[in-house]
Amino acid sequence: MKTIYLIPMGNIAVDIAQSVALCLWHTFGVEVKQKEFIEIPDEAYDRKRMQYSSIHILRMLHKSAPKEAFRILALIDKDLFIPVLSFVYGHAQFEGKVGIVSLARLRQEFYGFPEDRELLTTRTLKEVVHETGHMFGLTHCNDITCAMTLSTNIRSLDRKGVALCKSCTLLLKENMLEKYK
Ligand SMILES: [Zn+2]
Ligand SMILES: [Zn+2]
Repeated sequence: MKTIYLIPMGNIAVDIAQSVALCLWHTFGVEVKQKEFIEIPDEAYDRKRMQYSSIHILRMLHKSAPKEAFRILALIDKDLFIPVLSFVYGHAQFEGKVGIVSLARLRQEFYGFPEDRELLTTRTLKEVVHETGHMFGLTHCNDITCAMTLSTNIRSLDRKGVALCKSCTLLLKENMLEKYK
């Protein structure tokens, strides 16, 4: 049985983690194990940028990954970056074992609006499907309503759905049957 380990890092609400687990099971047809919260490594923090390096965290997750974990998805409440971009909503190794999604810029409070729990959950699920899709061999999609479309700002993120489009769904099915047996 293919299992995704879901790892909360920092302050991740239990109900959001549960929604994510359900969505992963529903979208990818895999077993999801919710793991204990783990500390965010201090070394991942970049003082100049005041953000956390997703590359650093992915490397750490990869190193400490249990063998039985087919894929590992972490949720974090800190802002993430990769060197060439000012920020990322999430980051995953293509067809790799580890991925991460940041909730920092998915909160309405980040944009000066009051908290909106439902919107935060929906945005989180979209990014979770996107990054997990990369781990299962999906690339960016031209359909702006598909979860695999690239979102570089919150507007384009809000425009897309939680679900995969027809062609991404087909490709995922193929990959699941042939590549990731
Ligand atoms: Zn992407
Ligand atoms: Zn698509």
